[in-house]
Amino acid sequence: MQKEKKEENLMEKIVSLCKRRGFVFQGSEIYGGLAGTYDWGHYGVALKNNIKQSWWKKFLDNRRDMYGIDAAILMNAKVWEVTGHVANFADLLDGKQFNTMLKTEVGAKKEDVAISYLRPETAQGMFVNFKNTVDAFHPKLPFGMAQIGKAFRNEIAPRDFLFRQREFEQMEIEYFIRADEWEKYFEYWRGEMLEWMEEFGLDMGKVHELEVPDADRAHYSKRTIDFEFDYPFGRKELFGLAYRTDFDLKNHKLEYIDEVPTPEGVEIPTESVGKKMTPHVIEPTFGVDRAVLALLLSVYTEDEKDGEVRSYLKFKPNIAPVICAVSPLLKNKIELVEYANNKVYVPLKAEFGRVAWDDNGNIGKRYRRQDEIGTPFCIVVDFETLTDDTVTVRARDTGEQERVKVADLKNYIKEKI
Ligand code: ATP
Repeated sequence: MQKEKKEENLMEKIVSLCKRRGFVFQGSEIYGGLAGTYDWGHYGVALKNNIKQSWWKKFLDNRRDMYGIDAAILMNAKVWEVTGHVANFADLLDGKQFNTMLKTEVGAKKEDVAISYLRPETAQGMFVNFKNTVDAFHPKLPFGMAQIGKAFRNEIAPRDFLFRQREFEQMEIEYFIRADEWEKYFEYWRGEMLEWMEEFGLDMGKVHELEVPDADRAHYSKRTIDFEFDYPFGRKELFGLAYRTDFDLKNHKLEYIDEVPTPEGVEIPTESVGKKMTPHVIEPTFGVDRAVLALLLSVYTEDEKDGEVRSYLKFKPNIAPVICAVSPLLKNKIELVEYANNKVYVPLKAEFGRVAWDDNGNIGKRYRRQDEIGTPFCIVVDFETLTDDTVTVRARDTGEQERVKVADLKNYIKEKI
């Protein structure tokens, strides 16, 4: 009971912090909101971008076998018919089938109007570009395609803040393999997913794997693992890993000609060389919004400083929306403001981008604000700075302060990140 209460409060605290500090706002708030939609403020966008960049770096930039794509959200309705989405992408509501795909009309003149759907997953944007990708880049199996983008589902009951929305973002990979290797690559991607979760800062003690039973799997999947997270509202899905067989490429009638071995010398059975075949697919899928929510729940920390409770977000520096904040001790002392701006803020901003200027309220208030934003370092320019070119750098987690030479600041921060 006690724990439940605490966890319940935690959700309230996170939602209110997100609004107060400019991370996430209710969508269309001034008109009473629109259920299942959220708008991202300055720091929320930065946080989301850092998470997406960390994902893109790990799964694309650091590899030679992945191809990025940014496909259109609106697709020809046939895509969803051949994949079975129009028939199957539904929840059960009071015994009735309720289609969760958001329908729209394309074409301005009445006689030209065609029904289209806002995509409910980014995956099909990759499958329909399979041939384009193979023709353009001649990849050898195994290889993957990856995409980050919006997806839409007309969820019956949007709820739990970012967890269940009608408009959200996905980061998905379709990894194309030979059929007999699916178990090996399923295991491999399971490991990669867990590794990234830890890398971007999730509390791994709250991450669990659920082997999805036959009856609960999507119509296209032969094996699925849900990575679940202990949210305050229960243990629920965070990300997923599915073996989609050759279901999608078969439906789209797309094939691949198995070729010579890859540059690394991976061997393929000689009898399949030069033959048409349909690759099978392992799909690691990640929801960006659930990643943000699970991260906020992982890094939110409270401790007591000088008899007061302070709350802070313990982001890793590469994920934090702001790396450091620069403050003149007093905002009406022109010498301090000029020094802080010209010699500290401008050069750091040019180097790191994610640098904030903060001269609002007294220093204690500024620290508390930056703690809640999750800024790892606060830099204060004071009167001593004017005489010896050093500044105070205060660390978020410990509250400890040290004097650092202005000339060393860039390196000091680089070392810490
Ligand atoms: P759930 O069972 O929670 O409805 P799902 O199994 O339908 O999720 P997938 O189809 O596997 O979800 O979608 C891939 C990922 O997209 C999920 O793991 C999740 O991170 C994210 N996602 C799915 N639906 C939503 C939603 N309504 N709001 C936010 N993120 C979502």
